[in-house]
Amino acid sequence: MAGTDTSTAAGTDADTAAGTRDDVTVVGGGLAGMTAAWTLRRLGLPVRLLEASPELGGMAGSRVIDGRTEDHGVHIFPAWYRNTLRLVEELGLADNLRTTRKFHQLLPGPEFRTADTPAADRLLFLYGVLDLLAQDYRAGDESLHDFLRGRRYLSPAAVADIEHLFVASSAAESTAVSAAGFRGSIAAFVRHPGRVRMPRGDLQHWFVGPFRQRLEAAGVEVLTGRELTAVTADSHRVRALTLRDPAGADTEEAVTGQLVLAIPHGRLAALGPGITGALRPAHGVLELTSRPLGALHLYLRRRLPGLPDEHIRLVGSPHAITLIDVGQTWPGHHDSLLNCVVGRVAALRHLPDDEAVKVLVEELMTYLPGLGWEDIEHVCYQPHSSAPFHAPGPGSARHRPQAFTAFADLHLAGDFCAAPAGVAGMEAAVRSGLVAAESVRRRLRPGLPAVRVDTIGDVPPPVARLLRSALGPAVAATVRKRSGRDRPGSNGSVRS
Ligand SMILES: Cc1cc2nc3c(=O)[nH]c(=O)nc-3n(C[C@H](O)[C@H](O)[C@H](O)COP(=O)(O)OP(=O)(O)OC[C@H]3O[C@@H](n4cnc5c(N)ncnc54)[C@H](O)[C@@H]3O)c2cc1C
Repeated sequence: MAGTDTSTAAGTDADTAAGTRDDVTVVGGGLAGMTAAWTLRRLGLPVRLLEASPELGGMAGSRVIDGRTEDHGVHIFPAWYRNTLRLVEELGLADNLRTTRKFHQLLPGPEFRTADTPAADRLLFLYGVLDLLAQDYRAGDESLHDFLRGRRYLSPAAVADIEHLFVASSAAESTAVSAAGFRGSIAAFVRHPGRVRMPRGDLQHWFVGPFRQRLEAAGVEVLTGRELTAVTADSHRVRALTLRDPAGADTEEAVTGQLVLAIPHGRLAALGPGITGALRPAHGVLELTSRPLGALHLYLRRRLPGLPDEHIRLVGSPHAITLIDVGQTWPGHHDSLLNCVVGRVAALRHLPDDEAVKVLVEELMTYLPGLGWEDIEHVCYQPHSSAPFHAPGPGSARHRPQAFTAFADLHLAGDFCAAPAGVAGMEAAVRSGLVAAESVRRRLRPGLPAVRVDTIGDVPPPVARLLRSALGPAVAATVRKRSGRDRPGSNGSVRS
C-alpha cells in the first residue's frame, strides 16, 4: 500500500549533539542536493548550496556545448516517480512536462518496423513478470542474468530482449544488475500505471533552471564553482571543509552547522576513511559501482518522417541505444533532433570520439531508413566516462548508505543512498534529498512534523504467486507448442 515512510532517516537521538548553529550547508547541486536544500529551506532553516560545476542539476541538468544547451541525457519521468512528481508540482513546474502515451520498440529494417509482439510472446512475458514479482528477495539477491537463465519457459531471444531492455536503461549488463532491483521497478510500474512525462524542452530551461530560481527566491544561497576537495573531521563530527574555487585556489572553512553531502559515491569515497568510516554502514560506499551512460544528440537538416515523438528503444541495438526525436516537440525546432542515450557506451571507450560517433550513427542508420550523413547538421557526443551512473548490483543493497551517519552534523543524499529495491534515477535522488532533510530536521527542528517521503507500491510475492499459478497451464501449453521451434530440447516446464 502506498503511504508515507520516514523510517530510513531515523538515526539515533543519543548521538552527540553537535552542529550547534541552525544553518545547513548542502554540497552537491544535483537533484538530490537541490531537493534537500529546497526542503530544508521550507522548514525555515538558513541553507547554502555549494556546487562544483558552473550549473546546478548534475546528471539531470544541461550545459552549453558549442553554443547549444545540451542535456546530460534525455530524461523521462514515469508515473511511479511519486516524490519527484510531487516536487515538480510543489515547484509549480508541472506544466513544464508533457505526457506521452507509450514506449515504442523499433526493429532494424528497410522500413520503420515497430515491434508488434505476438500473443504467445506477450503471455510468456506476462508470466515472466509475475514470476519475478513472485520472488521474495528479502533474504538474498541474485543477478538479473541468473534469474532469467533459470526461466526455462523463456526463449533465448526473449532472454536477450529483456537483458537488452535493462542495459538500455541502466548501462549495466544483466550479470551486474540486481534482480531484486529489477523486481522493485517492475512492481513500481505495475502499482503506479500511468503516462510517462518528459520536459517540454531542455532540462536547463524547463526543469533545473526554474528549480534554481525557486531555490534562490526562497532564500537558499547558491554558490556554483565551489568544489569540495577535503573534509576535516574528528571522531565525532565534521570540523572543516576545503573548497576549491574556479581559479584553483583552496580555502578552508569551519563547519558550524549541519552538513549534507550530496555528491556521487565515488567522490564521497575519495574523502577518505575519516568520512567513509562515519557512514552507515561504515565504508559500504566503497563497494558501490557506477557505469557511464552516454548521450548522442544528432541535429538533422530535415524532419525524419514516420518517427513517433515518444521514447523509442532500438531492439537488439549492439550499443543499447534508446532515443526521442525531441525536435518534433521542443520549441524553436522544426527538424528532427534525435536525443539518444547509449547504454553500452563503455564498449566504445577505446575509440576517439569521432570514431565512436561513426559507429553509433551507422548503427542508427540500420534502424532509421533514409537517415544519411548528409542529413546531419550537428553532432554532440557525451560519453560521460567521468560522470558514471549508479547501477545497483546483486546484493549491493546492504552497502548503500543511510542519510544519517555516526556524526551528529553529517547527512547524506544521492541516488546511491539506501532506498527500497528498484527506486532508481531521479526518483532515488529526490527521495534521498527528502530523507536527508528529514535527518537534519530531527537534529534541528524535532518539534516540526516529519518531512513527507512517499513510498512506492509493491506487489506482495504471495499475490504474484497466485496469479502465476493461474497462468501456469496456458503457459505450459504455449511452451509445449513452440518448444520444437524456439528451444530445441526444452521440456516445456514452467514454474508455478
Ligand atoms: C544519459 C543519462 C540519462 C538519464 N536518464 C534518466 C531518466 O530518463 N530518468 C531518470 O529518472 N534518471 C535518469 N538518469 C539518472 C539521473 O539523472 C540521476 O540518477 C540523478 O540525476 C542523480 O542525481 P544526484 O543528485 O544523486 O547525482 P548527480 O546528478 O551526480 O549530482 C551530484 C552533483 O554533485 C556535484 N559534485 C560532485 N563532486 C563535487 C564536489 N567535490 N564538490 C561540490 N560538488 C560536487 C556534481 O557536479 C553534481 O552536480 C539518467 C542519467 C544519465 C547519465
